[in-house]
Amino acid sequence: MEAWAVATPGPIDAHPLERVRRAVPSPGPGQLLLRVSTCGVCRTDLHLAEGDLAPKRPLVVPGHEVVGVVDRCGDGVVHFNVGDRVGAAWLARSCGRCRFCIAERENLCLAPSFTGWDRDGGYAPFMVVDEDFAYALPEGFDDLHAAPLLCAGIIGYRALRRTELVPGGRLGIYGFGGSAHITAQIALAEGATVHVMTRSAQARTLALSLGASSAQDASDPPPERLDAAILFAPVGALVPPALAALDRGGTLAVAGIYLSDVPALNYADHLFQERTLRSVTANTRDDGRAFLEIAARVGVRTTVSPYHWDEANRALSDLAHDRVEGAAVLTDFPS
Ligand SMILES: [Zn+2]
Ligand SMILES: [Zn+2]
Repeated sequence: MEAWAVATPGPIDAHPLERVRRAVPSPGPGQLLLRVSTCGVCRTDLHLAEGDLAPKRPLVVPGHEVVGVVDRCGDGVVHFNVGDRVGAAWLARSCGRCRFCIAERENLCLAPSFTGWDRDGGYAPFMVVDEDFAYALPEGFDDLHAAPLLCAGIIGYRALRRTELVPGGRLGIYGFGGSAHITAQIALAEGATVHVMTRSAQARTLALSLGASSAQDASDPPPERLDAAILFAPVGALVPPALAALDRGGTLAVAGIYLSDVPALNYADHLFQERTLRSVTANTRDDGRAFLEIAARVGVRTTVSPYHWDEANRALSDLAHDRVEGAAVLTDFPS
């Protein structure tokens, strides 16, 4: 098969993904071979392609929002059958034995593997996933619209829970792409008031159409104090204005795996009055299952921009330049 791989990380406009030839992988014990139908394009793929995130191994195939059909089952597979539609996400495996796994915090596992970073991901027509880390997907989403649920959706959901937003509270969202537009819908369905701060005029329009109460430029103050905020944009310079916008006792959660440097904070302006700054690291499988259940129940609608799988570099470049509405998704894989 042909696949996209990260050869030499570099500026996205120089198209760092390279087409390589690979054998179709074989599923080991407990693994599924997926025929890939769609694969979401996540900002983490961009950080990997550009070298902000060092590749774990040479020529890794990116992609960790994978919707596929089980083509073959390895020995001992019990939960899935050939022909089932499943999703593969960022957490490819946790060790199950470390102090974090034992404490039901496998997102902090000391020896994890990640799809499209340690292991080959879904920018290819076939990939292998452990059945224990594959998700059954709700029927209400077709392949194109299900893909962004698998990282953008799950991580945004964990970020929302990490903010400990009170019921009916005021939530600020900084950056409004694939993850934010899903998270906003969950928050709104749970009764939150949502204010969006983003530099993209197109994203501000999408935010308002989904029910946000206000939408302004990235570092502009929201029209009211916030009980909680999530920073989706990978921009450390937005941490001070986001903290300054919090009400007493409010929490800012940083959703991304990568953030540019945070400028110096002023204790009185940014942290005093028991404001909290916290990060979000990967997710547990329980987060994934809980999110997929709630997304189906509240009828989350993902806005997607499809790209032919040939156009992976262009999709990443569009993502880097804020030219994607909602979430970019690769489709039309060769069969
Ligand atoms: Zn572990
Ligand atoms: Zn991701």
